[in-house]
Amino acid sequence: MLIILDRDGVINQYDGNYICSADEWIPIPGSIEAIARLCNAGHRIAIATNQSGIARGYYDIDALDAMHEKLEQLVEAQGGCIDFIAHCPHHPDDHCACRKPLTGMLDQIRDHFHLDSLQGAFMVGDSRKDLEAGLAEDCRPVLVLTGNGVDTAYHLETRPLPDVRQFDNLAAFADWVISTNL
Ligand SMILES: [Mg+2]
Ligand SMILES: [Zn+2]
Repeated sequence: MLIILDRDGVINQYDGNYICSADEWIPIPGSIEAIARLCNAGHRIAIATNQSGIARGYYDIDALDAMHEKLEQLVEAQGGCIDFIAHCPHHPDDHCACRKPLTGMLDQIRDHFHLDSLQGAFMVGDSRKDLEAGLAEDCRPVLVLTGNGVDTAYHLETRPLPDVRQFDNLAAFADWVISTNL
């Protein structure tokens, strides 16, 4: 199964402040191991991450690459691998096609894996825009209650989205995927 992850608030800690360097990029406890366990169970892992901090001038592509190098090395040290990372460097006012909730990054992921569609893939996020992007591509939306997740869950009560599964964190999602043999 293809599993698409948001980054900030899903894999690494996120409190609403931009993460501008590899040093500031701190994994949520258990998230790196969760990715490795999913890999070892035969799943493929991709990431789709909005990074408007680049357009805002808070950090550059080299800093983003360093964050992702750190992430990949941590996952590889646990015996897993990240297959593909798509990022949107644009500002919301740029009206690009890749910033979630739009689906440009998911289309990049689909093309990377030479798939006709992303139907049935999981899209795991902590924000409504992650779930909306996934739903637009027929992914199965998964909300984790890390990062923005508690706030997102609260707002889903009044503005629901269909078929959203909810987990405490990425580790709990991985437990569920692996235990149900998906
Ligand atoms: Mg997020
Ligand atoms: Zn973009």
